[in-house]
Amino acid sequence: MLHALIQSKLALCLEKNSLPCDFCENCTRIEKKAHPNIHIVEPAGANEEEFTNEGTIKIEQIRSVIEEHSKANFEQGPAIFLITHMHFMTKNASNALLKVIENGSAHKFFLCLAPSKRSIPATVASRLIEHRLRPTLVEPQNLENKINLISKIISLKPQKRFSEVSKFPTTKRELLIEVDSLLVVTHHMLRKFEIDPKVALLLSDSLFSMEKALRRNANPRLAIEDMLFNRWPYRS
Ligand SMILES: [Zn+2]
Repeated sequence: MLHALIQSKLALCLEKNSLPCDFCENCTRIEKKAHPNIHIVEPAGANEEEFTNEGTIKIEQIRSVIEEHSKANFEQGPAIFLITHMHFMTKNASNALLKVIENGSAHKFFLCLAPSKRSIPATVASRLIEHRLRPTLVEPQNLENKINLISKIISLKPQKRFSEVSKFPTTKRELLIEVDSLLVVTHHMLRKFEIDPKVALLLSDSLFSMEKALRRNANPRLAIEDMLFNRWPYRS
């Protein structure tokens, strides 16, 4: 949910920076879940702290999503439909949702949260872009070293990161393992409040992008450079 709200701020923040400012009118209203462009769809009976499995997202709720989706956005910027428990949606509801996702619109986005891609109907999953957030159960070895590496790179301007390229493994296989452990470390830092959540989100996005590039057989060295120079966040 935290990540979904940050993504929404990224889309609507009035300061057009690479990170949401957290202070503008839009960021503040998103934080309070009170921005008219954001439509939160939750199972009946759900609340953020304490959620029981009893609730489902029902067709009536999706009907109102469809109605909102057909209207112009309340305010400037995209409208975001945030579905908090995609895996607790009735079959009728997800069939109805499928149609509206298929029709699409440039200024409407769906953010659908679920524990895994397999926990939601395949027809819906195939029309969404997966963004995995990994759990942080494993403490990798040399945690301290990796925390230092992450903190150092974040503090360097992208054009000053050439010397950091050599700190990454050179083969695809090792690099994929490194991506995994850096993701775990990022989450560890997040839990310990050692990294700003917005920076952590951008960082995990940049790691996922590199992973995707590697799986498409990109040259490992070029993939690292692209990540460090173009994607990895910079905390001024
Ligand atoms: Zn803002």
